[in-house]
Amino acid sequence: MPVTSRYLRVALYSLFILAGAAVAGSWAMRQAEQHTLEESARRGPEQLSLYANSLHTLIERYRALPAVLALDAELINALSQPVTPEIQAGLNQKLKRINGAAQSSTLELLDSTGLAVAASNWDTPTSYVGHNYGFRPYFSQTRSQGTGRFYAVGVTSGIPGYFLSSAVLDAKGRFLGAMVVKLEFPQLEREWSQGNDTLLVSDARGIVFIANDPAWRYRYLRELSDDDRSEISSTRQYHKQPLTPMATRTLRSFGDNSYLMRVSGPQGPEDYVWNSLPLTAEGWTLHLLRRPVVTAEDSRNAALAAIGLWLTLVFLVLFLLQRWRLARMRQRNREELEQLVEARTRDLRTAQDGLVQSAKLAALGQMSAALAHEINQPLTAQRMQLATLRLLLDHGRIEEAYKALTPLEQMLTRMTALTGHLKTYARQSPSGLRERLDLALVVDQSLQLLEPRLKEEHIDLHVNLIRPAWVRGDAIRLEQVLINLLRNALDALHDKPRKRLEIHIEARQQHWNLSVSDSGGGISEAYLGKVFDPFFTTKPVGDGLGLGLAVSYAIVHELGGRLTVCNHADGAQFTLTLPTAEDL
Ligand code: ADP
Repeated sequence: MPVTSRYLRVALYSLFILAGAAVAGSWAMRQAEQHTLEESARRGPEQLSLYANSLHTLIERYRALPAVLALDAELINALSQPVTPEIQAGLNQKLKRINGAAQSSTLELLDSTGLAVAASNWDTPTSYVGHNYGFRPYFSQTRSQGTGRFYAVGVTSGIPGYFLSSAVLDAKGRFLGAMVVKLEFPQLEREWSQGNDTLLVSDARGIVFIANDPAWRYRYLRELSDDDRSEISSTRQYHKQPLTPMATRTLRSFGDNSYLMRVSGPQGPEDYVWNSLPLTAEGWTLHLLRRPVVTAEDSRNAALAAIGLWLTLVFLVLFLLQRWRLARMRQRNREELEQLVEARTRDLRTAQDGLVQSAKLAALGQMSAALAHEINQPLTAQRMQLATLRLLLDHGRIEEAYKALTPLEQMLTRMTALTGHLKTYARQSPSGLRERLDLALVVDQSLQLLEPRLKEEHIDLHVNLIRPAWVRGDAIRLEQVLINLLRNALDALHDKPRKRLEIHIEARQQHWNLSVSDSGGGISEAYLGKVFDPFFTTKPVGDGLGLGLAVSYAIVHELGGRLTVCNHADGAQFTLTLPTAEDL
C-alpha cells in the first residue's frame, strides 16, 4: 500500500475516532442535562405541596377570626343604630387591640352599605374609616352567602391583601354589615424568597398576585378577555397596578402540570422547569419555577464517561479486527504452505515413480541375459522333443508320442507364466495402490523370475514362509523390492564358495517380517548406513546403479513399512516389515 494512502487512512480513522468522541461527549452532556431537568421536574410537586401548605396554614389561621368577631355583641349593637363618634372611637380602639393580638394586617367593620364604620388602622393616613367598599366582591358575597373572600390591592392603602369577611347579623338574622380581616403576605413572600426558586400564586384568571420576586407580580399568564378586564376594573381588584402579559412557550412536558418553559421573564427569555399546583379552596394556582442547573462537573463527568466508553468500544473493535486479520493471514499462510507441500509431494512422487520405473527397467535389462538363456534353453529342448515326437509318429508309436507331449506342455506353461509375469513387472504401476495381498505369493513370483539365475549359480536356497501373510500394498512394487534384495544377495554370493540364501516370513506384533539373508560376507561397517542412499554402489560401472535399495526403501516406507539391514555370521540380512492386513 502506498505510504500516502496509509497516512490518509490513519488520518481518517483518527478523525472518525475524534468525531465519535465529540458526539459521545456532547450526547452524554445532553443526557446529563435531560436527567437534571427530569429530576428537577420530579421533585417539583413535593416542594410545591410544602409551599402550598404554608400558604394554606396562614389563611386557615385567620379564617375564623371575622366569624368570631361578627358574633361580638358590641359590634352587633353598634351596627343596629346610627354610629356616633364615641361609639366609633370605641370600636376603632377595640379593633386595633384585637388586630394587634391576632397579628392580622387590618380589621374593619362595614355597615350594611359597605361603608367602613371602624377599622384597626383608623389612626393611620391610609385609614379605611369613612370609605365605602360596597363594590368589593367579598362584600356582596358576605351579604348574599354570609362569608366572603377576595384578594385585592387595597384601594386606600395600595397594599395588596386577602380579604376574609363574615356577615354581622342581628338577633333576627338580618344583615347589619360585615366584619373584614385583611391578610398581607409580605412575610410569606420574604420566607419564600430565601431559596433560588421563583414562587408565584395566580388567581383564577391567571394573574400573578403573589410572587417572591416583585418583578413577576401583576403579570398574566394567559390572555384576559374583555369580560375579565371589565370585571377587574369594576371590582378594582388590582386597583392601579398595570397588568402585563408574561409570554411563555412550552418546550417539553414532563407530565401533569410539569413543563420545561421558555419564559420572557423580567431578565429576558429564560428556560424554567415549571411546576404548578391548583389550590382548589381559594381557586388559585401555585407555581414553582426553577432554573435547571447542570453543574459543570456533572456534565464533564458524563462527557468523560461517554468518551471513555466510546474509546473502549473503538479499541475493542480495533483489537478484534486485528486479531481477525492476523488469524486470516495465518490461515492464508498455512494454506499456501499446504499447497506448496502438496505440490512438492506431487513432484517428488512423480520423480519417485520415474525412479522406480527406471530402476525396474535397469533390473530388467540386467535380467534379460539370464531370461534369454531361460527361454532359449526350453526352446532348444522343445525343438528336440518335437523332432522326437515326429519320429515316434512316423513309426506309429502313438502311445509314446502322447507321453512325450506332457513335458512339452509343461515347458510352454512355464514360459507363458514367465513372460506374463515379466509383462506385469515392466508395467508402470499407479502409485498409491493398496490391495490386500499375500506376501508369500510375492516371494513365489520373485523366485520364479529369478529361477534361471538361482539354478545356474547353484544357490543353496532355504525358504520358510507362513501362508497366507496378508498385507496391504502394491504387488508389483513389493515384487520389485524383493527382486532387488534377492539380486543383491545373488551378486554378493557370486564368487563365494558357500552360496546359502534364506528367505523367511515371521509374524511379529501385528506385523509381518520378511527377511532375506545370504552368506555373501555382509556389508562393511562403514557402508551399513549408506546402502539405502541413492546412487550408492560398490559394483563396477555398468553393473550397479546404486538405485535398487533407495527405491525399495521408498516403496516400503510409502506402504507404511520399514526396510532395515544388518550383518549376521557370514553375510547380510535385509528385513522388510509390513503391518498385517486383517483377514477378511
Ligand atoms: P546396486 O545393486 O545397483 O549397487 P543397490 O542400492 O541395490 O544398488 O545396492 C547398493 C549397495 O549395497 C551395493 O552396491 C552393495 O555394496 C550393497 N549391498 C546390497 N545388498 C548387499 C548384500 N546382500 N551383501 C553385500 N552388500 C550388499
